[in-house]
Amino acid sequence: MRNVLIVLSGPSGVGKGTIANKLIERNSNLALSVSCTTRNPREGEIDGKHYFFISKEDFKDKVKNDGFLEYSEHFENFYGTPREFVETKLQSKDVLLEIDVNGGLNVKANYPKAILIMIAPPSEEELYARLIGRATESEEKIKLRMSRLNFELSQSDKYDYTVVNDDLQKAIEQIEEIIKYEKNK
Ligand code: 5GP
Repeated sequence: MRNVLIVLSGPSGVGKGTIANKLIERNSNLALSVSCTTRNPREGEIDGKHYFFISKEDFKDKVKNDGFLEYSEHFENFYGTPREFVETKLQSKDVLLEIDVNGGLNVKANYPKAILIMIAPPSEEELYARLIGRATESEEKIKLRMSRLNFELSQSDKYDYTVVNDDLQKAIEQIEEIIKYEKNK
């Protein structure tokens, strides 16, 4: 059995974070990659756990030194997957990346064995309700995130799998089946 690199993508608010955390809790051979970002921490977010929160200068240095497996800009901030962090973890465990669609496709280009999984919402209305419920952001920002919804989902056909998050438990079990299948391939 090989260790696999799994990418979870999908629109903001679709439940990627919850799914990723549950998968990590339930699977001791699975490690979550921690991305670097230049955005400010939201309430409750911990440096080194949710993200490595770094300055724009440090981010640029890391880009120059080829320190990212992929990186991109969203909402005027930069996000990147630290190369060394992922490569070291992959030696002993499966690794889960929770990143956007462009990032996922860039990872696949660099590392074709990566397994890309799109998490889709049951409906657009449900996703909007979830973002409002989360109440961490202004309406304007929520609208900006919603505008990316169709773009993200339009890329599903480039992904290896799409899992609809209408039932959290079912979605998690489907992803576990995918990982099991891919590890044994
Ligand atoms: P948020 O600010 O809500 O945490 O994340 C904004 C967006 O950045 C989300 O779509 C999230 O998936 C994406 N993102 C988080 N980490 C990375 C990363 O390492 N690389 C890329 N390309 N996108 C990321």
